[in-house]
Amino acid sequence: MLDTLLNIPPGKLLITYVALTAIIAVRYFMISGLFYWLLWGRRQDKVHAIKLMEGTPRPGMVAQEIRWSLISSFIYAAPAAVVLEMWQLGDTAIYNDLDAYPLWYLPVSIGIYLFLHDTYFYWTHRLMHLKKLFPVMHRVHHLSRPPTPWAAFSFHPWESVLGAVFLPALALFIPIHVGGILFILTLMTLAAVFNHSGYEIFPKWWLRGLPGRHLITAAHHDLHHKHFDCNYALYFRFWDKLMGTDIMESEYDFLRPEKVAREAA
Ligand SMILES: [Zn+2]
Ligand SMILES: [Zn+2]
Repeated sequence: MLDTLLNIPPGKLLITYVALTAIIAVRYFMISGLFYWLLWGRRQDKVHAIKLMEGTPRPGMVAQEIRWSLISSFIYAAPAAVVLEMWQLGDTAIYNDLDAYPLWYLPVSIGIYLFLHDTYFYWTHRLMHLKKLFPVMHRVHHLSRPPTPWAAFSFHPWESVLGAVFLPALALFIPIHVGGILFILTLMTLAAVFNHSGYEIFPKWWLRGLPGRHLITAAHHDLHHKHFDCNYALYFRFWDKLMGTDIMESEYDFLRPEKVAREAA
């Protein structure tokens, strides 16, 4: 593996790196920009989503979120470019021949990646909330109160480095189809934008039902930006529930059992 790393032509790596940075940044501008306009940029009576935290971002906050997110694009692209080049040289666990593994392995591998990513995110996130690490690594992300879709990648560079290395490292060891990787990257970007949108865009039946009880949406992550000491995870509520850091139903009127029962009657 180290041999492959040393065999990557530097010029080619640089081109891949620049291209990936551009793709990540453009994708961020398109998705965050669209949701910012849909939710924050139009007359509020036209927005059919649940506004979460009260208030609006303080002046200059959106510009700051964009600046940090752009710096994050440069950081996220670096390990991804290295792994992409190693893949070209045939020395990663990424495969593109669908017959290389049984078809059932495709969804299973995606599930394994998401679970491991969620676990990594939960524990590194809790680590960054330790008194000594918080001001150095994570304070930047918590300046967004309420967050907007532009806050999706608004991290201090140290936090971005921590976030950027995990998936490329997994791709060196756990076999996954290239389509699976693209699916996870798309899901990750959408989740980051949705969870910071400041509005809950999923319908109430989703939030009250099985998906909402186990999957993270904006309503869940918004509470992390509000209270700081709860709801640390990325995709699933599993780790928060297990560790006693999950809050949700007690915080929102539309999720209270008596309210749900009244509306159903
Ligand atoms: Zn956040
Ligand atoms: Zn946090």
